[in-house]
Amino acid sequence: MTICYINGKYMPKIESKISIEDRGLNFSDGIYEVIRFKNKKLLNYKDHQIRLERSLHEIKINFPFASKKSVKIIISNLLKINSYENGFVYLQITRGTATRNHLFPKFSKPNVILSLYPEPNLSNLSKGVSIILTDDMRWKRCDIKSVSLLPNVLGKQFAHENGCYESWQMDKEQYITEGTTSNAFIVSGAGKIKTHPLNNKILGGVTRNTLIRVAKKKKIRIEEKAFSLKELINCEEAFLTSTTVGVLPVTKINNKKIKSGKIGNKTKILIEIYNEFLKNQLI
Ligand code: PMP
Repeated sequence: MTICYINGKYMPKIESKISIEDRGLNFSDGIYEVIRFKNKKLLNYKDHQIRLERSLHEIKINFPFASKKSVKIIISNLLKINSYENGFVYLQITRGTATRNHLFPKFSKPNVILSLYPEPNLSNLSKGVSIILTDDMRWKRCDIKSVSLLPNVLGKQFAHENGCYESWQMDKEQYITEGTTSNAFIVSGAGKIKTHPLNNKILGGVTRNTLIRVAKKKKIRIEEKAFSLKELINCEEAFLTSTTVGVLPVTKINNKKIKSGKIGNKTKILIEIYNEFLKNQLI
């Protein structure tokens, strides 16, 4: 039985309830965060905390906890109560419960939900995944980790129905923005590692940002520069990043192998560097 946290109470997830007037339900008026834990220790916590505060600020919801520490205390409690050793903390905050009206309610309190999910077995993905390309149909504030995920859901389902793990989305100029649940990277013919720059077209992935930082320390430069469809088709290697999968090799695009279809050397090195960085947080 999983115990979750909802609006100040710890209770079995199956018994937790939210009103039909929750603004997250009715207007996607909320934000969320996903944090990985290993051996019950949180990974990259500070970056998730900063992004959480930023998302709230951008959609004008006041920080709903007594202090920054309170969030960590709630998560620690959930980790203690629940048996999962490895998995993910899911945190969602909506503008609250109020009679349906697009305008912000004057007196509502945010609805706050925290819940844990066990780590799925991802070993079948580590050999490399296939991606499919789609148009980016999302809004102009993809930098906010909003619960409004319909285009992402449809994109991910489209990928799945076409035997792919992920869909990478293209803007009008045919530059790749990001995946539906991950950030996108290539290694170009000239050996340059590229990913879309941080702006309103992508989510500033914690894994993306961390990888760029730790690679730089090892003297590996990742250029924050958008790459085109043409560059993707001619790339040497590709990979994607997210909290749930870390750094994951991409070996096929639109059903065509990238080079030999094997994991590229630069990708292998970056996977190693990133995993080492995570491991050091467990000491
Ligand atoms: N882009 C999108 C659209 C996502 O949903 C995610 C996963 N939350 C990411 C990128 C990767 O972000 P992170 O590394 O913080 O999980």
